Amino acid sequence: MGERKKRALFIDRDGTLVKEPPVDYQLDSLEKLEFVPRVMRNLYFIRQRLDFEFVMVTNQDGLGTPSFPEETFWPAHNLMLKTLAGEGIVFDDIRIDPSLPEENSPNRKPRTGMLTRYMTDEYDLANSFVIGDRLTDMELARNLGAKGIWLRPSLEGAEEELKAYPVALSPALIAEDWDRIAEFLFAGERRAIVRRATKETDIYVDWNLDGTGKTEIATGLGFFDHMLEQIGKHSGTDLTIRVKGDLNVDEHHTIEDTAIALGEALLQALGDKRGIERYGYCLPMDDCLCGVALDFGGRPWLVWDAEFRREKVGDMPTEMFLHFFKSLSDAARMNLNIRAEGTNEHHKIEGIFKALARSIKMAIRRDIYKYELPSTKGML
Ligand SMILES: [Mg+2]
Repeated sequence: MGERKKRALFIDRDGTLVKEPPVDYQLDSLEKLEFVPRVMRNLYFIRQRLDFEFVMVTNQDGLGTPSFPEETFWPAHNLMLKTLAGEGIVFDDIRIDPSLPEENSPNRKPRTGMLTRYMTDEYDLANSFVIGDRLTDMELARNLGAKGIWLRPSLEGAEEELKAYPVALSPALIAEDWDRIAEFLFAGERRAIVRRATKETDIYVDWNLDGTGKTEIATGLGFFDHMLEQIGKHSGTDLTIRVKGDLNVDEHHTIEDTAIALGEALLQALGDKRGIERYGYCLPMDDCLCGVALDFGGRPWLVWDAEFRREKVGDMPTEMFLHFFKSLSDAARMNLNIRAEGTNEHHKIEGIFKALARSIKMAIRRDIYKYELPSTKGML
């Protein structure tokens, strides 16, 4: 066995550790020093529990020139370091580039000139991360061959900004806060890809429980697609489903096999279930009252208390609803208790799917500070 390579977190300063001052973007006085919320407890947690080296990497435009004299920079910078050190957060290395953009310095982020000492065999850059609030930070990650974690106030607009950027970038994580970053680094991503092919259907499911609600569904059945979209969107998970089914026969195999693949993906993605809430329930929806209680306890069971009078909703036979949830519960080994009352059949089934999504959202919520199995039996 060779020696394990070192890993690093390359952490941007302004906008990532401390708030970037508005207007001139210069942190040049003590009054402007303000930490990004929750940065301290999470960096402390990462420092204690994981083996990353901490490297601060920052561009300070024109530092040392009359536009940004050093004597206005260091007091705030040093107070920041001192405060972090007091919380057990010490940087192994700090790299500051003082150039202006027009100088095209090889050291200026996203260029890697300041980090050549990390670009050797000693470091496992592929499993190191750049954490920053700008796409230039994500470009630095790309240039280093590392992964990027993009911290931004909201997930909204992120895709558009990525698309508009001149270089193709795909951050490993887009995070709204430091809690999410620590969770991601510590516990990883819960994602499963299931491919299930029989004579009747060919199904591909990619389910990322730590996603943002992005869906891409194509089963060949419009109404079914619409229902499955609810699961991803309202649980805040990323769900891709592609199905080629024998719809020339009927809808049965397509719906049943999709439920099985979906349940398998959920079970796999949940992994050992450490730190999760386990239970979830919900009761909303227009004229209808729909409730889905669920338990990822490892035993499949379905209680179905919902009646449908129409033969079909859209292109989906209503007799297949029960069948879908039964197959899902079996494959995911979860207990589902489903109730719905009301008159509008479309609302009723949509309500059930949304309530399922909300239940999943609650039950998969994970707390890395209580990273235990939610069971007294020691396994789920
Ligand atoms: Mg920044």
